Amino acid sequence: MPHASNVVSCTGPESQHAFDNVPLQPRNGTLDAPCPVCKGHGQWNTQIDLVSFRCSRTICDRCSGAGWVETGRDPIAVPDIELNPEGRPQWIIRHTAV
Ligand SMILES: [Zn+2]
Repeated sequence: MPHASNVVSCTGPESQHAFDNVPLQPRNGTLDAPCPVCKGHGQWNTQIDLVSFRCSRTICDRCSGAGWVETGRDPIAVPDIELNPEGRPQWIIRHTAV
């Protein structure tokens, strides 16, 4: 017997179910304010099943998933990948200005 489902799509963070079951992100000490786009969640549902709560999510582009943004002029540390001198990819912290 197929189990019940009630899948709804969310067009963006303003959708009714966009933040169902999405936890708030803990504040990263260097950032100033909850992200105005995702309201501190860092991501939102693009699709959610209101019965099983299975969902697909997208990461917020405004805060890169941190849920918090810098409001001043401090640079923001963003994890990124670049090639090291041997040509191998490695994780770095890139600082970007707002
Ligand atoms: Zn955000």
